[in-house]
Amino acid sequence: AANERESLYLVNEFANEYFQKILHKTDQGKSIGLSYFKERGFTDETIKKFNLGYSLDDWQAFTDEALKKGYSIDYLEKTGLTIVKPDKHFDRFKGRVMFPIKSMSGRVLGFGGRILINDKKAAKYLNSPESDIYHKSKVLYGIYNAKQSIAKEDNCYLVEGYTDVIQFHQTGIKNVVSSSGTALTSEQIRLINRLTKNITVLFDGDAAGMRASLRGIDLILEQGMNVKVCSFPEGEDPDSFAKQNTLQELTLYLEENAKDFIQFKAGVLHEDSKDVPIKKAETVRDIVNSISKIPDRIKKEIYIQECARIMDISEEVLFSTLAQINKKDF
Ligand code: ATP
Ligand code: MN
Ligand code: MN
Ligand code: MN
Repeated sequence: AANERESLYLVNEFANEYFQKILHKTDQGKSIGLSYFKERGFTDETIKKFNLGYSLDDWQAFTDEALKKGYSIDYLEKTGLTIVKPDKHFDRFKGRVMFPIKSMSGRVLGFGGRILINDKKAAKYLNSPESDIYHKSKVLYGIYNAKQSIAKEDNCYLVEGYTDVIQFHQTGIKNVVSSSGTALTSEQIRLINRLTKNITVLFDGDAAGMRASLRGIDLILEQGMNVKVCSFPEGEDPDSFAKQNTLQELTLYLEENAKDFIQFKAGVLHEDSKDVPIKKAETVRDIVNSISKIPDRIKKEIYIQECARIMDISEEVLFSTLAQINKKDF
């Protein structure tokens, strides 16, 4: 019910204020949480703009405070902020720095929480569970802070993580959102599609991640959007790269390295298969399958011509592969 959803929003808003208060006003918050963010290069202004917070390293500090303020255990459990067991309850985000996740209109839907010291035993990031107000497949981290710039720049950068969004903002690029580690969905793309038809996907600098993300991009093409992709040097991600560079340097890097998605994918596939004849057929089908998602017929034809050149294969083969794929679809 609408009432229940509103109650969940209110619990999240309380938690958002609470985690920020802990970060800025308590000894543990300042010495652990705030210094963590400072070490990552975030300024006070940035920390406040993204409402970053800290959850005490205590089993129930947050839950006890929320109960004291009159929030019900039922709603605390439904937002996932509290984990309720038969004999006890405890704070989900114990000892983590907190990233509130907001809707397009700025309401707090859930949280991401990061451990402070990388430790193979604990998940680096923990997220709020799905709830009546938080559906991770429909959310893009940063959309509230980015929406105006996305429309104004008529482009949206899509990155992997929370800190990539924040560091880009601080450097001066504000039209940026993150799918926060989950595979991109059509609903997330529709959020962007309302603001611009142009997406630039930024990959972390590791080949495995890049190849995995190439698949999800077909969903962007399906919505008739223009897609560019850009990778970062080995071992860097948008956060670490932006941290080491000025706005001018970052802008130049993006201008020089963003490539049209189809051309880029054709190049990667060609590299993978040019000396392996049996792989070639597979990669041809892969690229033509991507092209088949583009609604505009003229664009389709232009891409077929481009890919024939890049992959060193005849246009006729590509066109007949496209015809086969289209037949299968109907
Ligand atoms: P950091 O710079 O803080 O180490 P990152 O954003 O660079 O983090 P990646 O490993 O590149 O982290 O992962 C990208 C995103 O995937 C994260 O921002 C987070 O949203 C999500 N993620 C990463 N690890 C996990 C995990 N163990 N559980 C759930 N989500 C995760
Ligand atoms: Mn990564
Ligand atoms: Mn990363
Ligand atoms: Mn990172």
